[in-house]
Amino acid sequence: MTKALNELTIAEAARALRARECTVRELWDACHAAAVAKNPELNAYLEIFDADETAIAAAQARIDSGDESLLCGIPLAIKDNILIDGKIASAASKMLEHYTATYDATVIKKLKDAGALFVGRANMDEFAMGSSTEHSAFGSTKNAVDPTRVPGGSSGGSAVAVAAHLAIAALGTDTGGSVRQPAALNGIVGLKPTYGAVSRSGLIAMGSSLDQAGPLTKTVEDAQIVFDAIRGLDPLDSTTIPAGLYPEHARKEKLTIGVPRHILSEGVDADVLETFEATLQRLAKEGHTIVDVEMPTSPYALAAYYVVMPAEVSANLARLDGIRYGHAARGETLLDDYVQSRTEGFGPETLRRILLGTFVLSSGYIDAYYRKAQAARDVLRKEYDEAFKNVDVIAFPTTPSPAFKFGEKSNDPVAMYLEDVFTITANLTGMPALSVPMGTVVREKSTLPVGIHFTTPHANEAMLFRLGTDVEKLSRGE
Ligand code: GLN
Repeated sequence: MTKALNELTIAEAARALRARECTVRELWDACHAAAVAKNPELNAYLEIFDADETAIAAAQARIDSGDESLLCGIPLAIKDNILIDGKIASAASKMLEHYTATYDATVIKKLKDAGALFVGRANMDEFAMGSSTEHSAFGSTKNAVDPTRVPGGSSGGSAVAVAAHLAIAALGTDTGGSVRQPAALNGIVGLKPTYGAVSRSGLIAMGSSLDQAGPLTKTVEDAQIVFDAIRGLDPLDSTTIPAGLYPEHARKEKLTIGVPRHILSEGVDADVLETFEATLQRLAKEGHTIVDVEMPTSPYALAAYYVVMPAEVSANLARLDGIRYGHAARGETLLDDYVQSRTEGFGPETLRRILLGTFVLSSGYIDAYYRKAQAARDVLRKEYDEAFKNVDVIAFPTTPSPAFKFGEKSNDPVAMYLEDVFTITANLTGMPALSVPMGTVVREKSTLPVGIHFTTPHANEAMLFRLGTDVEKLSRGE
């Protein structure tokens, strides 16, 4: 059965464009038409852009003249917290509903240089805080596999745009799992690069020491294509890392995979755990070695994250005061202006995190909470560095359970926070991590995808791609 153009992967579309099996215009039209047709139901996009005729013609001309950029002419969905010059970037908040970006984020500039096209602004949890996209100020996105369920978050719109073929691939941001978790819940691939591998310039900041932009794609190969296009040292982001800063581990064919089974014994659905173990067994048959690892500090990672992250959120969102940026309400006094603008502009989850963050940074509590959390973060990183002396990769299920129903966790912040239990550690340690589909589980007659999650030492994304490709092959039965 031949695929429709919008169903192609980046690699397939790049090949089809060069084989003259389709034009850039036809590829764009297929994605755009699917987006327009399906968005009323799925709400993956907050805005679908009109065709940029100049960009389409330029991409076609490049391909005609033999340009080899694989992203040339490829339509992408972009999360609404990534700045595209001249377009609104609202971070799915009323606060920035009318904010128009005045420059391109570095990742956008790089994608434009590669010849990529942008289908629209993808929906998300407000300011990237959440795991279900239910915290968007503009309505939630529906899961691509089962529309009665959440798509995950916070990059829910990006994930659904790709899984439902409303774009060939997408860019999201990941502060605690926001690329990997929605990728897992929609049956696609998601990469959180090494901290500093990709510039944060032009991203609406959530937690500056945790944030990374990353690809959501149909295949591991595509994730690598996007990563290669967006990575690199950037003078506009002093935290970006030069090549060679971290040692690159030997490119082995067969890897040693560490599994911290002691933290999987509680809270993970039985069938998710079975799918995970079956996937590991298949990898073992392929010649990889599976060993147990102990990560004694892991149980504290979630708590540390929910102290460090809100602290950074409260600092980053302080600029949104109704004077310098954002929704502007006017009261009797200047203080009224601030209070009213922020009360009206921010949703409940954002307010909760600003309050939490302000509290953990306040004098008297900073030692008890913020500094303790930073200390736990250091220990966690050391523990991972230590474990990587014996293993190449550490594996978890990406999430404890498959996509849940709307409303199931939205009134219970702690239940929602537990969604991130396996993904947040990579943000706290700065290590790269990849989620790859590992199979399905059934809930109420619905067959739902779940993902396997791999972490490697800093700057060793190559190893993630290597192992991820094996998982893909095994699930295709090759
Ligand atoms: N779900 C996590 C949170 O709510 C992660 C968010 C993210 O990665 N942006 O903080």
